[in-house]
Amino acid sequence: MVLVTNRSELTDTVLSDGQHREHIVLTDEEIAKGFVRPVRAKYRHVECNTETLMPLKIAETYARDPKFYGSTFCCACKGYFAVGEDGEFVWEDGSKVGS
Ligand SMILES: [Zn+2]
Repeated sequence: MVLVTNRSELTDTVLSDGQHREHIVLTDEEIAKGFVRPVRAKYRHVECNTETLMPLKIAETYARDPKFYGSTFCCACKGYFAVGEDGEFVWEDGSKVGS
């Protein structure tokens, strides 16, 4: 996985595990402005009950801007599904990813 901070660097390349090769994250400068949620490194897809771990920078992006992503990856389903209040993912404390 390659983490980028500019949408122009995203491509259509998909890795063998189903993930996009590039994932966008906030810049270090933006992350340094402070977190509005805890930094949490894994979430659970409620549809399949499987946890997926993420790189720290993505966890920090969620913590800085909880609504930054519209969807996120499940390592069991090998696909991207919605996050947010009506989304399919929860953090370990049971709160919705993307809220
Ligand atoms: Zn799943």
